Amino acid sequence: MAKLYWLDPCNLLFFCPGCKCAHYVRVAGPGSVWGWNSDLEFPRFDADITFGAHSTNHRCHFRIEQGVIEFFKDSQHTLRGLKVALPEWSLAETGVAQR
Ligand SMILES: [Zn+2]
Repeated sequence: MAKLYWLDPCNLLFFCPGCKCAHYVRVAGPGSVWGWNSDLEFPRFDADITFGAHSTNHRCHFRIEQGVIEFFKDSQHTLRGLKVALPEWSLAETGVAQR
């Protein structure tokens, strides 16, 4: 088990305990990418990340530093405003296709 998995050569997957599903972060390749400290155990991404920014019914807004997710208060789940260690998880259990 690990905290981060490569979805493909450009995108890292992690499990969001707020949304109870996987999110991905683009860290390589053409186009805009997030700065990443290259640490799979205690990752840090250089900017805030928002999922569901254009959705009215679900929003997840956070940053990740030293392997800890800090959910901002405008997230729309029960972990908003909290800091939570990035969980170890299994791709097989969550049904994400491994490439
Ligand atoms: Zn989330």
